[in-house]
Amino acid sequence: MEPSLLLLVPLRSYRTEDFLAAASRLGVPVVVGSDLCHAVEERFGAKAGELALDYRRPTRAASRVVEFAAERPIGGIVATDEGTAIIAALSASRLGLSHNPPEATRRAGNKHLQRQALLAAGLPVPPFSLHPLAHGPERAAREVPYPCVLKPLVLSASRGVIRADDPAGFVAAWRRIEAILQGARVERRPKDEESGRAILVEGFVVGSEVALEGLLRAGELEVLALFDKPDPLDGPYFEETLYVTPSRHPGRVQREVASLVARAARALGLVEGPLHAELRLSEEGPVVLEVAARSIGGLCSRTLRFGAGISLEELVVAHAMGLPTSRFAREDRAAGVMMLPIPHGGILRGVAGLERARAVEGIEEIVITVPEGREVLPLPEGDAYLGFAFARGERPESVEASLRQAHALLEIDIRPALPTV
Ligand code: ADP
Ligand code: CA
Repeated sequence: MEPSLLLLVPLRSYRTEDFLAAASRLGVPVVVGSDLCHAVEERFGAKAGELALDYRRPTRAASRVVEFAAERPIGGIVATDEGTAIIAALSASRLGLSHNPPEATRRAGNKHLQRQALLAAGLPVPPFSLHPLAHGPERAAREVPYPCVLKPLVLSASRGVIRADDPAGFVAAWRRIEAILQGARVERRPKDEESGRAILVEGFVVGSEVALEGLLRAGELEVLALFDKPDPLDGPYFEETLYVTPSRHPGRVQREVASLVARAARALGLVEGPLHAELRLSEEGPVVLEVAARSIGGLCSRTLRFGAGISLEELVVAHAMGLPTSRFAREDRAAGVMMLPIPHGGILRGVAGLERARAVEGIEEIVITVPEGREVLPLPEGDAYLGFAFARGERPESVEASLRQAHALLEIDIRPALPTV
């Protein structure tokens, strides 16, 4: 039987379709792993091409993958978030597939372990300290530097990341993160002792932010794209909006960023597969905020095209399956995405002005990913964007302008969730 790709996606993922399309273009059969609890699997039975795994128990999930692979050969595994990256690594190592070592994905997937590993390697990271929730915020509020950033260890997409400028703000941010971590909306994550019970506090790094998209092959980092984030991200919450590539920073800075990310990957032990890194360009040079063993989130990868229209997902799938991939260059044109922010909480009634926004020069597509009638929640509690706008153009400046103009034409109608009396 032809070996399949095992795609591990979180419960609610934007990306499944793009990966399925990529695999189909490459002629690779796919099995989609998903986090279904045991009861659900028994009730419906695991459909062909689907594998129900308990994402909270990575070792058990990996054993299940190994069992499954005895019946239906698996030729490569792709994970799309930090939680599934650990399961992918554990499974791949037991199946003898090339992948990141499980320990490396564990380090990368926990913000505190990651900081410690990068600091130990002498790489520039923000000053940080870890504070158990059980100790309460008061003492930490007196000890930390200001401004600082508080964050949970294992959430992503800026959920629960809050800037504090003084002790009162620190205590308020702490309480808010505590509530997020206790809330039912926290995704199913591998259970471990530390991660849900502590807050990481970092010095706030001043500077513009960039994101690097790369692919590791046998420990070598291939840079696929460097994105600028032209909107200032000063907090108190860090909603990402614009990503534009190619970067407008000087070549020297771009090379510095790439070499720092390569060293960071090495320090974490990451060697194979997609990598997404975020850095701030401080006055003293680039500072690493995050290195993730996955590709870029949301629908943002749709900005990238390689060679003759090849998608990022195709590169990732081909690499995982050990298919020959030459070094594809990103196409020359500038490209960008705006993650449409959720201005305030409530029920999404609709988005007007889409026609006009889509007609803006350079706009390629605008996708609203939240269905009408659904409740939306902004950051720091929220975990979704309203949608995504994509643009292409000759230059990054024009791409940025197109995205801003299109966004300004959208009228987002969000009404209070409860009738006000
Ligand atoms: P997540 O994994 O949820 O994306 P990050 O640690 O990457 O969390 O933080 C999200 C965003 O918050 C970053 O992209 C950045 O804009 C901001 N941020 C986080 N830490 C710092 C810091 N130490 N200094 C300045 N900004 C920060
Ligand atoms: Ca991040």
